[in-house]
Amino acid sequence: MAKRFETKLIHSVKKNNLPIRSKVTPIYQTSAFTFENLEDLEGYFQGEGNYLYSRTGNPNPDELGQMVAAIEGAPAGIATSSGLSAILAGILSVAKSGDHVVAADDVYGGSFHLLYEELTQLGIETTFVSFADLEQVEKAIQSNTKLLYTESITNPFLRVENLSEVVELAKRKGLVTVVDNTFATPYHCNPYGIGVELVVHSATKYIGGHSDVTAGVVVGREDLVAKARAKVTNLGANVSPFEAWLTTRGLKTLAVRMRVQSENARKLADALSNNPNIARVYYPFEEETTGFGAMVSVELAKTLDVSQFFKSLGWVKLVPTLAGVETTVSHPLKTSHRALPPEAQKALGITNELVRISVGIEHYEDIISVFEQAIENSLR
Ligand SMILES: *Cc1c(COP(=O)(O)O)cnc(C)c1O
Repeated sequence: MAKRFETKLIHSVKKNNLPIRSKVTPIYQTSAFTFENLEDLEGYFQGEGNYLYSRTGNPNPDELGQMVAAIEGAPAGIATSSGLSAILAGILSVAKSGDHVVAADDVYGGSFHLLYEELTQLGIETTFVSFADLEQVEKAIQSNTKLLYTESITNPFLRVENLSEVVELAKRKGLVTVVDNTFATPYHCNPYGIGVELVVHSATKYIGGHSDVTAGVVVGREDLVAKARAKVTNLGANVSPFEAWLTTRGLKTLAVRMRVQSENARKLADALSNNPNIARVYYPFEEETTGFGAMVSVELAKTLDVSQFFKSLGWVKLVPTLAGVETTVSHPLKTSHRALPPEAQKALGITNELVRISVGIEHYEDIISVFEQAIENSLR
């Protein structure tokens, strides 16, 4: 029977499902997948077919999860809608109402809020302690503690966590370790290889690398990742096929970006260390072999006008994020750590003079001269 106009609009061309061997994975921008018949559908539930509905699984998010698992050397991985939902899914795969978490007191502000406000309301309590002192961590462990939570490199002071000691303590106490590896990236640090059971990432940062997606990843022990996958599905924390595709596209250049960005960061940190108008440089200089990341924090000396400094940075923009290919700066006191009480800001050392720099892939001499010029132009 000849189709009418409206039907032709929808059904005139057979759906393109051909094995046409595109060089890169296509974007499966579809909310669901079709079945030939009821037997086929039943086959999916028996584990034969791959996909049903994109919230429960889609090739692009799966590819992202598998890529990060592969480079972290972990058996399983899943992609999520954001770094925070990756952290949420990771924690909920281990802890439930009535359980307790011991977390580092210098974790990312959003993670602090998730643990302190949201998870507390759901009955999961967290004690925050300094992980620089593992005796304090051990003292904070209770009979209902299920996991230790920290970051491989912290923000904004770039403290490098001693992961093997954290893992040793966790194993001795029968706890799971969950580590946010966003700042270090799998290029510099491999927590799973050290014995961390779950590694989480804000793929919004270096994994995506181009400041154009919000996404997250959880990788690690197979049974825990399976639980995290159920949380992502049931809480609706899945990432869209397009964003997952963009993220895998960015991830392919992680090594070349990180190599250049870390080398640039090291050179900038060296140059600023020798500048009398910089009171202090925070950078993990001691990590000689691979370098340790592309973030540098500095405390401006009192010889500089802070507001004038931010106005004098030329093409280096003030942005409350990090990890893009462009060099950018942020002001932790007024952004990431704004919500902390003044005493907590003071205790952590978050002052008005503190500037966090995310170093990009521009030529290092140009990066250094922008900062030197800004210092020159903001002398009191
Ligand atoms: C940005 C960030 C997060 C949160 O990630 P989103 O993608 O913004 O949800 C978590 N941890 C660290 C270390 C981050 O920098």
